[in-house]
Amino acid sequence: MKSFPASGLSRSLLLACVLGITPAFSAPPEDGICPIHHIKMESVSLRVVYGMPSQLEFEEMREQKSRFPNGRDYVLAGCVVKPAKSIPGYLCRDCVKARKEWIASRQTQSNSKP
Ligand SMILES: [Zn+2]
Repeated sequence: MKSFPASGLSRSLLLACVLGITPAFSAPPEDGICPIHHIKMESVSLRVVYGMPSQLEFEEMREQKSRFPNGRDYVLAGCVVKPAKSIPGYLCRDCVKARKEWIASRQTQSNSKP
């Protein structure tokens, strides 16, 4: 891997951006059953979003694997823009609900900071 002549902060952001690509395209389960909630998921087309994920989205990526892996109606495809605008995927209604609750709790926490 090349080293970037950037400052430490922007270099780590860039690295985080590149690393953010990987989990977005993990293959959905073929039977369409949510591995967390064990219910049938809805087959949908997911928007592909390019660019740097927000801090909240990074935190969400850490949480989603164990709590709401199929709760987002878009995928983060990293910084390198490709032609794909949408990909087939699944949405689980319980994951969507769990994700909304998680985001709401995160926003409550950040609002309560001084
Ligand atoms: Zn689920």
